[in-house]
Amino acid sequence: MENKLFIYNTLSRKKEEFKSINPNSVGLYVCGPTVYGDPHLGHSRPAITYDILFRYLNHVGYKVRYVRNITDVGHLESDGDVGEDKIAKKARLEELEPMEVVQYYTDRYHQYMDQLNVKKPSIEPRASGHVIEQLQLVDDILAKGYAYESNGSVYFDVDKYNETNNYGRLSGRNTEDMLSTTRELDGQTEKRKSYDFALWKKAAPEHIMRWPSKYSDGFPGWHLECSAMSARYLGTEFDIHGGGMDLLFPHHECEIAQSTVANGHTPARYWMHNNMITINGQKMGKSLGNFITLEQFFNGNHELLEQAYNPMTVRFFILQAHYRSTLDFSNEALQAAQKGMERLLEGCSKLDKLEPGSESSFDVKDLSDKCYAAISDDLNTPILIAHLFEGLKWINTILAGKASLKEEDLEALKALMNTMVFDILGLENSEQTSGGSDQLLDETVNLLLSLRVDAKTNKDWATADKIRNELQNLGFVITDTKDGFEWEIK
Ligand code: ZN
Repeated sequence: MENKLFIYNTLSRKKEEFKSINPNSVGLYVCGPTVYGDPHLGHSRPAITYDILFRYLNHVGYKVRYVRNITDVGHLESDGDVGEDKIAKKARLEELEPMEVVQYYTDRYHQYMDQLNVKKPSIEPRASGHVIEQLQLVDDILAKGYAYESNGSVYFDVDKYNETNNYGRLSGRNTEDMLSTTRELDGQTEKRKSYDFALWKKAAPEHIMRWPSKYSDGFPGWHLECSAMSARYLGTEFDIHGGGMDLLFPHHECEIAQSTVANGHTPARYWMHNNMITINGQKMGKSLGNFITLEQFFNGNHELLEQAYNPMTVRFFILQAHYRSTLDFSNEALQAAQKGMERLLEGCSKLDKLEPGSESSFDVKDLSDKCYAAISDDLNTPILIAHLFEGLKWINTILAGKASLKEEDLEALKALMNTMVFDILGLENSEQTSGGSDQLLDETVNLLLSLRVDAKTNKDWATADKIRNELQNLGFVITDTKDGFEWEIK
């Protein structure tokens, strides 16, 4: 492989050169969403981070099998094996079948990932479709003596595992700290130690999602699904496991422990973790009133948003930070991202207007080397974007007649800019995402016209006329009807 890739491996805590177990098929597993709510800004960062990895691996010639799961069972409200299943709870509150909730939010997730131009994974397995594989893992871990049954549930025995392994290897925690930070919770009496975790949970009578097993009618522990599905589709040892930093502990730590007992080694060689997005410096949370869904970002309908943002603006905003850094949302930051992205896309649209000259004022090969060095250095997209702005400066200087590129250098610059901006960073011109902007236009015009209806009701004829006249000047045809209004574009 001509282009090397260096990845910061959370497991070894250092940057390592990526070497695939089988160069003809790179195995990439990423923990996907638990589908019980509308996709929000937090969902976009892991999706976009591993999309860049997927795109770059493909670009340098690897064949990649990218598995990203859908969690549709077993994710309880607390990570401590207590509380209601998140999906079952939503189903109960909405009086729906749990699988109706799953289908609805999976469709919504796909819709918003499409708008963000996130490529689809090769396989998108669901936890509920792999209960047999998960039960086989429970049997295996129990048979090897690293789990115990308690009241119809099965728990992983962390102390036993620690005799020969290190639970905490990935997250850098140790069990003494875990003991001092875990509270006594309901149901914990079933466990020998509070840090033991459920492989199988006996279902309470009111629990809807349940499967029969020799242990009890119950459901798999949340961490088990990724061990079972990654082994099923990528083998017991694969290349890269990715996910958000919030999954590092306990989820990924538990995955490593389960797979190590079952297969004798960690499931993946490289572990990657993207950092979180904060909103005006605060963690995003429903109780903090700063929880913004992607739909709200794209239509501007949230009190913290000064305007609607194009999906590509959100994508560019995320790519302007390195994936391991925290990223803080603010309207100013997104507005700056929008301006920057528009300049870059506009520059690319001018590439075809450039005419070759008799000599080259710039070193295109050097710029290309710098771009590849940035993206292959642990996906350093902010540095890559800085180099692309250097290319943008060249385009404008050539257009102004103050510099030139010979034909072959000009062709190389065009190829470089197009490859980096569209294929690897995955940006799109807004015409290509017209689905989103059409919707935005509809909603904006409807909003203005409903303000006009309000103005007429209040006999504020000046405002009502101003809205109609200005919209007509912009090319809209407005018709008053007995129910309100209709409009079209001339
Ligand atoms: Zn997972």
